[in-house]
Amino acid sequence: MSETKEFKAESKRLLEMMINSIYTHKEIFLRELISNASDAMDKLYFKTMSGEGEAISRSDMQITIEANKDDRKLIISDNGIGMTQEELENNLGTIAQSGSFAFKNENEKTEDVDIIGQFGVGFYSAFMVAKKVTVISKAYGSDTAYMWTSTGADGYTIAEAEKDANGTTITLDIKDNTDDENYDEYLTPYRIKELVKKYSDYIRYPIKMDVEHEKLKEGTGVDGKEPEYEKEIVTETLNSQIPIWKKAKNELKDEDYNQFYKDKFHDYSDPLLHIHSKTEGTATYSALLYIPEKAPYDYYSKNYEKGLQLYSSGVMIMEKCGDLLPDYFSFVKGLVDSEDLSLNISREMLQHDRQLKIIAKAIEKSIKNELKKLQKNDREKYEKFFEAFGTQIKYGIYESYGMNKAELQDLLMFKSSNGTPTTLEEYVSRMKEDQKFIYFASGSSVSRIESLPQTELVRDKGYEILYLTDHVDEFCLQMMHAYDKKTEGSDETTPIEYKSVSADDLGLETEEEKEEIKKEEENNKEMFDFLAEKLSGKVKAVKLSQRLKNHPVCITSEGMLSVEMEKVLSAMPDNQGAKAEKVLEINPNHAIFGKLKSLYSTDKDKAGEYADLLYDQALLIEGMPIENPVDFANKLCEIMAQQ
Ligand code: ADP
Repeated sequence: MSETKEFKAESKRLLEMMINSIYTHKEIFLRELISNASDAMDKLYFKTMSGEGEAISRSDMQITIEANKDDRKLIISDNGIGMTQEELENNLGTIAQSGSFAFKNENEKTEDVDIIGQFGVGFYSAFMVAKKVTVISKAYGSDTAYMWTSTGADGYTIAEAEKDANGTTITLDIKDNTDDENYDEYLTPYRIKELVKKYSDYIRYPIKMDVEHEKLKEGTGVDGKEPEYEKEIVTETLNSQIPIWKKAKNELKDEDYNQFYKDKFHDYSDPLLHIHSKTEGTATYSALLYIPEKAPYDYYSKNYEKGLQLYSSGVMIMEKCGDLLPDYFSFVKGLVDSEDLSLNISREMLQHDRQLKIIAKAIEKSIKNELKKLQKNDREKYEKFFEAFGTQIKYGIYESYGMNKAELQDLLMFKSSNGTPTTLEEYVSRMKEDQKFIYFASGSSVSRIESLPQTELVRDKGYEILYLTDHVDEFCLQMMHAYDKKTEGSDETTPIEYKSVSADDLGLETEEEKEEIKKEEENNKEMFDFLAEKLSGKVKAVKLSQRLKNHPVCITSEGMLSVEMEKVLSAMPDNQGAKAEKVLEINPNHAIFGKLKSLYSTDKDKAGEYADLLYDQALLIEGMPIENPVDFANKLCEIMAQQ
């Protein structure tokens, strides 16, 4: 006797949700089951090739489909690797990890989400069309077969069963028709053929089905005899079996590429871009690469694993080969097929494989070139791409301490005072004749940056400012230090440095202006020392500002770490309390400066209180928290009351 086991709690909820709430594309269940069958045969072939058990010929492997309209059964069989009892339990008894479940919860409202594709829970899609699913499987090399049965969310049973050869047979008891849904179509040969063509044409193993044809009875229809017909069963192969990446580009339409991507990489939207290349030379390989439209839900989590599928002469040898992609292109999906790689190469050996390194380099280059092309030819699409994956590229520069700058700097885009997102090359091409630096300002949003007092002088000059709104932006620019401007017609480059609008020296003031400010500071040296003393531990210095035009105060920084960077770092979990060396700048042309001077000579305590208030205000402008908001508010009110 077999007992009914419950699906793990989470699985059960997900399964219920899936069966009941996913209305779209029920038909994909067939593709999912066929893909699983094909994977199972790949696995078996690979296992025997790498020396375990007797070698098996790929030509003996096949998938069969049987549709039986009378008892409403659709049967899909393979002679692949099969599953042991334990594998049946583990593979078909648990659906998704908590991460994906949480994702679905968050996205409860988006009804159209193809959850199956998203989570690789393909097998369960069978329940969209079947009221009962029976899996009989015999693992390769095992003597016993097992049967797994389930009617859906309630649970499943596993019992011993009879099966001659290794492999898996999945029997679906197709649901009865309802007012809204015609399930009969999944028992109709014509429709099944159509679905196989649409979704599984490239599957390498033949997908066979017995199809009934009408045939002219021998001896009838000739010599004036009435034609008579009889039924004949013909076994048809429904798929062309040529992997899409082996086909010629001109045979393929965008839809073919997109469909393959969605099936293979479980995405529900079309990719943004596909790159199909065949290369012969130092390394011979075909590659089919895709850039997704959006980052997958787990992209920025630890669970995300980069990599391309790796094939050796059409046989998949690795599901995710991370060595084929640099981290900054980790969003790329796809596969590489090469004759140069040995079939039973181990993971460790692969890491040192020279061919693989050559292929990886070539792939990196081709991704970069295609992105550059996109940037030039389809700006809208490129911006969409950068929106989704730009952060990754910036991290690529930051994490390598700027070493990848040459490869990546031209892929970057930033918001800008120019209005539209800009590349660095474009910024540089718009620079004014007397402009020495690429100016940037950091903040949480464009509107915040636009109101920053620090931008006044640069803006006044009519210079463009890059708006850094992404956390990693400033770190990335700092690592790059300068933009290497290419000289036309040569390999030479001229570095143009990046400069924060909050930097110490903006390179904008004339010597006279500097001199004047310096004099004013010297005249009031005692007061500035007093103010700095009052704010000691908070700021490194109090200075007169060259950059402020209308605003009374602002905070700038000296050294490598800016105020914005301090903000980012302090929000990190392993924050080490790094602080920017802050400078409080006071506008010499603002009335508050005169007021400070007179207070300093008449009422030092008051001048000190003003310094506290000005510092807190400058922090607020920066979007930094102030230490004691109550104190700040009380002091401000006191002053208001005196007016
Ligand atoms: P995925 O294929 O995305 O991993 P599925 O829910 O479709 O998720 O399948 C779960 C697992 O069950 C597979 O990874 C595989 O190990 C196993 N499996 C499914 N179908 C078969 C089959 N026909 N033969 C052997 N193993 C299978």
